[in-house]
Amino acid sequence: MRVPVKEESLDPVDWDGMRTLAHRMVDDAIARLKGLRDGPVWQPMPRAERNGFDIAVPSGPEPLDAIYADIRAKLYPHAMGNIHPRFWAWYMGAGCFTGALADFLAAIDGSNLGGGDTAANAVDHQVIEWLRQLMGFPDDASGTLVAGGSMANIIGLTAARNAMAGVDLHQMSIADMPQPLRFYASDQVHNCHQKAMNLLGLGSKALVKIESDAVFRMDLGVLETAVAQDRARGLRPACVIATAGSTNTGSIDPLEAIANFCAREGLWLHIDGCIGAPLRLSPEYRKLVAGLDRADSLALDLHKGLHAPFDVGCALIRDRKLHRATFAESAEYLQVASRGLAAAEFLHDYGPETTRSFRALKVWMMLRHHGVEKFGHLIDQGIRQAHYLKELIEREDCLDLLAPVAIDIVCFRHDPGGMDEATLRIHNTEIMLRLQETGVAVITDTTIRNRHCLRVAICNHRTRSADLDLLVSKVLRFGSDLSRQM
Ligand SMILES: *Cc1c(COP(=O)(O)O)cnc(C)c1O
Repeated sequence: MRVPVKEESLDPVDWDGMRTLAHRMVDDAIARLKGLRDGPVWQPMPRAERNGFDIAVPSGPEPLDAIYADIRAKLYPHAMGNIHPRFWAWYMGAGCFTGALADFLAAIDGSNLGGGDTAANAVDHQVIEWLRQLMGFPDDASGTLVAGGSMANIIGLTAARNAMAGVDLHQMSIADMPQPLRFYASDQVHNCHQKAMNLLGLGSKALVKIESDAVFRMDLGVLETAVAQDRARGLRPACVIATAGSTNTGSIDPLEAIANFCAREGLWLHIDGCIGAPLRLSPEYRKLVAGLDRADSLALDLHKGLHAPFDVGCALIRDRKLHRATFAESAEYLQVASRGLAAAEFLHDYGPETTRSFRALKVWMMLRHHGVEKFGHLIDQGIRQAHYLKELIEREDCLDLLAPVAIDIVCFRHDPGGMDEATLRIHNTEIMLRLQETGVAVITDTTIRNRHCLRVAICNHRTRSADLDLLVSKVLRFGSDLSRQM
């Protein structure tokens, strides 16, 4: 039987034209990155423009250069802005060009990192091996690259649950566990752990929030009491989730003391290092995360402090066998062979996904291109800038610091005097929105011990101290304008 007359593919018919357009995209990308500082960080998208994305399903083709023109006109002006030097919202990386090239090259390579005897597989192994060494984990520890910190935490907590369940959770269910499990985290823990508890079938009641101390670190005494009480009640304390770099203030739980406690009590230690783990690369601040290497599982977020383009995170697990046993399931159509393409360990045995993207390439290229020392210096730079901002704030009578500066996060607010808590919230929210809407800077806000504040997270390799000068001058300007209007 003959195939249909006209066989088709997705490859360009006009490769030369495609090459020209692709080169133009690279030129434009470089120009965009070089000119970032001249433009607004972010600007709101008018409704009319938003409606421009409400078009019919394209049944026929359209020239790629027209689509690209659309992207330049409609997408670029309304990006999130986290690549801009004055973006300090939440806690996000600023991306980097090497990583962007890597994402392109990985897509062209096309390898599926679920497994296979490929160079891509070797790159993935290499990246895990580098991260293992950098984090001080033992030789036989394992790891897996995932979409981000939330998924990395889920991997670690799943391993913890299975290790501590008291029954084989491959065969049995949560309901078969002899005792309900309890996980412990400080009241500053990231909400992805709450999500994880629910996904794991344990429910949020399984996550016991431990009060944090005056500087937002888990209070060890409260933890000890909670664990003892739960044991007495017939519950099974399973895991302590320590936070190395909390989202609100950047505080770092007392890792060594918690590790000692976990060792004594036979508890799994999971460390959420999404913000703080890269401090291990910092010559100056490394000591702040002493004890990080004692975790049974560690979550890293490479698209934050290492500025890989979204998305890439990593879970490291001390016990490789247990890690694999947590996720590996056999299937007749997925058998490791002794020869041929399938003659390599299946990487999908270390997490829930089967097909995995080649996100290892961007980490591999970035670490090689910049060198690890550079990343350490950038961590130092962000922390030093945070302390610089703190000094600027302390110089002003109407600016108050609301939390100690632990690393690269600064919490403060404008307080012209005579405003109650509710008014201060409205006042500072308005300052934040004006900063965003004028395109000057993007920061976010939070509430610490019932006090509302502005929050500046300097996870941005493009920030210069002059950007922080500008931020403070604008906060003072908007703040005094507003208080005069009130
Ligand atoms: C960002 C963050 C997460 C979630 O990571 P994603 O990459 O956004 O999924 C978890 N924990 C902490 C402490 C974080 O800062």
